[in-house]
Amino acid sequence: MTDERLRLALQKSGRLADGTFDLLKKCGLSISRAKDNLYGRARELPIDILLVRDDDIPSLVDDGVCDIGIVGENVFEEHRLGRGREADDPAAATLVSRLGFARCRLMLAAPKSWASDDLGSYAAKRIATSYPALTQAFLNRAGVAASTAEMSGSVEIAPKLKIADAVCDIVSTGATLEAHGLKPTATVFDSEAILIKRPGALSPSNQSAFDSLMTRIDGVIASRNAKYVMLNAPREAVADIVGLLPGAEAPTVLELAGRDDVVAIHAVCVEEVFWSTLEELKRLGATAILVAPIEKMMP
Ligand code: ATP
Ligand code: ZN
Repeated sequence: MTDERLRLALQKSGRLADGTFDLLKKCGLSISRAKDNLYGRARELPIDILLVRDDDIPSLVDDGVCDIGIVGENVFEEHRLGRGREADDPAAATLVSRLGFARCRLMLAAPKSWASDDLGSYAAKRIATSYPALTQAFLNRAGVAASTAEMSGSVEIAPKLKIADAVCDIVSTGATLEAHGLKPTATVFDSEAILIKRPGALSPSNQSAFDSLMTRIDGVIASRNAKYVMLNAPREAVADIVGLLPGAEAPTVLELAGRDDVVAIHAVCVEEVFWSTLEELKRLGATAILVAPIEKMMP
């Protein structure tokens, strides 16, 4: 690693890693990994990569060992609250961008045998979790006095082992909790992958690599749901049809050769285009509707 290259901390393998490497690939970066699988290097931009456990990423970026990192917002918030820092603390890593993958939910879950699902039923109980700070902050906000027992994994077995009464854990389908006789009852934190940056200014060359990376990431995120829509429309229905196209700014209206009554409309829709929208467009007289994916976008 050198000072002239931007240092990026990523999860080596796991639920974040797949989405992260997919995002970097879509940004046009190919990553070569060192034999020890601890370091990587982007070929197309001056970026060095440190491959680590996700839990270490907030500290590495906070302490300036790495300039930026990609981590779950759950892990970042737990780290921030655990260190007792404010979200806008100038001496700590800050959230730069939400990345829209690795979405998951931190939830309170209680044994199905509990009589009530109310938050109040967690009062005076012991809650096993890998996220004690997030859990405690949630309980404080809700005015529920309960204690937490920190566990680094397999949280869902804690009630059976009588280590705790209930749990607060990451839930995606709920199948793991179900298999252990637990039922999720309240959302403590909604999470997705985020990009974080170390406090303080970057060197000019690293700032330029960072700006390039962010432009590409913004472009990938913007184009994820974006579609290029082309259709023919009766001239008098243009305003209504344009109004139906989701998130389309200033569509192009083109003359069709030999037709006075019909025009072509081309639009970039930045929100998802549903079948029901196409059916409504058709009802307004649109014909020859084409919806094409967009690979890259740069405003
Ligand atoms: P590591 O070995 O790096 O410590 P880990 O076992 O802590 O890995 P993973 O299970 O790979 O972690 O999860 C990493 C992150 O991915 C979580 O902190 C969370 O942000 C997100 N995540 C966890 N479970 C899911 C899920 N089911 N679906 C989507 N994202 C998830
Ligand atoms: Zn981890």
